[in-house]
Amino acid sequence: MRNHHQDMIRDIEEEVRYTSHLIGKDALDPRVMEAMRKVPRDRFVPDDIKPAAFENVPLPIGHGQTISQPYIVALMTDMVAPQPQHRILEVGTGSGYQTAVLSQLCERVYTVELVEELSRAACELFRELGYGNIEMRVADGWHGWPEHAPYDGILVTAAAPRIPEALIEQLRPGGRMAIPVGRPYSHQDLLVVQKDEQGRVSKKNILGVAFVPLVEPAPRAAGA
Ligand code: SAH
Repeated sequence: MRNHHQDMIRDIEEEVRYTSHLIGKDALDPRVMEAMRKVPRDRFVPDDIKPAAFENVPLPIGHGQTISQPYIVALMTDMVAPQPQHRILEVGTGSGYQTAVLSQLCERVYTVELVEELSRAACELFRELGYGNIEMRVADGWHGWPEHAPYDGILVTAAAPRIPEALIEQLRPGGRMAIPVGRPYSHQDLLVVQKDEQGRVSKKNILGVAFVPLVEPAPRAAGA
């Protein structure tokens, strides 16, 4: 059965209520849900799986990568609490869907992706859909994007074995980061990391998730 955009929104709201004991609320910020209503997820999935575009599930986007489950996209967006004047860093552009949702809610999104083809395809989509407040880079997100730091929020959409130190450094005091931490292809903890005004960092585990790994590229051999 084909799911439509409004069914996807209803499924997200239902899953939020179902997990309210874990996430500490029974509804997400209405601005986040409005962004989920606006961004056409079907444009971000390959043609052969378009009929499933509005299912509340992750889907393959090629290169062994996935577009995240809509509920997780909405939840992680809510976790970083983007505000209109915010500049947000995303690690793992992938299809660009999460980037597009963020772009509706803040001043500027900076997004880093390792796979050039994915970054290029997402760039083309942003142009077609008229999302003008996104800056993209093909690079290793373990290092964040120091040139534009600090960020009011950071969102990592691949699982890291530990929180990359550079990302903590690039988070503005008062800012929040959402990141799945744990072993690849197994259970990971979706953490919200907060840096207070004094620069002290605290972590809170929100719920169990399963993300593709945040790849650690091998260091280049000397002279290579
Ligand atoms: N936000 C994406 C999710 C994509 S899956 C979406 O909504 O579609 C995670 C992405 O992280 C993949 O595209 C993968 O190539 C990318 N990735 C993995 N390791 C990375 C790294 N070290 N630096 C940058 N991107 C990375």
